[in-house]
Amino acid sequence: MTTKPSIQIRNLSVRYGVFTAVDNVSIDFREGEFFALLGPSGCGKSTLLRTIAGFEAPFSGKMLLDDVDLIDVPARKRPINMMFQSYALFPHMSVEENVRYGLEVSGVAKREITSRVDDILSATHLTNFAKRRPNQLSGGQRQRVALARALVMRPRVLLLDEPLGALDKKLRGTMQLELKRLQHEMGITFIVVTHDQEEALVMADRIALMRAGKIEQIGTAAELYEWPANKFVADFIGTTNFLPASANGGQLEVPFLGKIGSRNDVNGSITYSLRPERIHVSMERSPLHENGFVGVVEEVAYHGQDINLHVRLARDLDLVVAKVPASSNLTDKISINTSVWLGWNDADARVLSA
Ligand code: ATP
Repeated sequence: MTTKPSIQIRNLSVRYGVFTAVDNVSIDFREGEFFALLGPSGCGKSTLLRTIAGFEAPFSGKMLLDDVDLIDVPARKRPINMMFQSYALFPHMSVEENVRYGLEVSGVAKREITSRVDDILSATHLTNFAKRRPNQLSGGQRQRVALARALVMRPRVLLLDEPLGALDKKLRGTMQLELKRLQHEMGITFIVVTHDQEEALVMADRIALMRAGKIEQIGTAAELYEWPANKFVADFIGTTNFLPASANGGQLEVPFLGKIGSRNDVNGSITYSLRPERIHVSMERSPLHENGFVGVVEEVAYHGQDINLHVRLARDLDLVVAKVPASSNLTDKISINTSVWLGWNDADARVLSA
């Protein structure tokens, strides 16, 4: 990935009648990056993608590529290709014919077509399936044909709308890595729409998290996870504990817990956010942590690698979830009704606008 700009979207808004589906969005995509548009159902991800493809006309805004505004360029003339969730393969054509089709329509020379098709079938591990029809393939194989058909055109930008949506969980995991490998090998900018935060975290170089047509935050997976811009981002990416608090400079007051230190110099109502894996669980108070509270375990949830403890720190406070590795020797000592200490440092928590 470079920092060279690919498509630059400036103040883009898309309306359906009076409803604004994409609201004043600006994103600078970079050449060769894997970018994910993430957000809950109905937040406008697909509309934004379809607008980039040229299937929707924006109400206002610009979309620059090499200083040309693509908004005036018809969809078929944009150096952009789109892979649909339904794959839209031609059922009467073989895999190879499906992949060749776009090149033939574009008038590419026969010899070049053969070599490009061979290369892409090999890169997508489809060489052995070249003569099959789509209905003789598995879901994962069909997905790869759709991908091969899009990539063989060598677009500057490939748009993918929920590309793994039709696959089962295990296959999705494999295909996430496969997509990333292909994107990396070909150096094409990928813009992927997904509502699955785990998928975005695994695949994308950068993520834009959307809500109700607007961008809440753009950043790497680690930036969104570690430094969420607000409560919505912290809640959407991973799991976290939220404690309402009031802030007075570097001092926080959490109802039912009392005073907690803070690295942030803020005032007023805030949300104190603490990731489960940042909490240290022990049977005695840990001297290594600035904050320590004793509570009672109300639930033990086994997740294979980890065990999630749901701990009651105060009667009227929501349960706090802390993670203990399954391999820890603590697991033998802890069950429902055990008293445990939860410890963390001020730097482990985030202070978010309420
Ligand atoms: P999902 O993950 O469910 O596909 P999304 O984030 O991709 O959601 P969009 O499909 O972009 O969301 O839709 C954004 C909003 O625009 C939704 O409220 C939707 O109902 C509305 N919308 C989408 N297409 C149209 C249309 N053709 N006419 C009117 N409203 C539309």
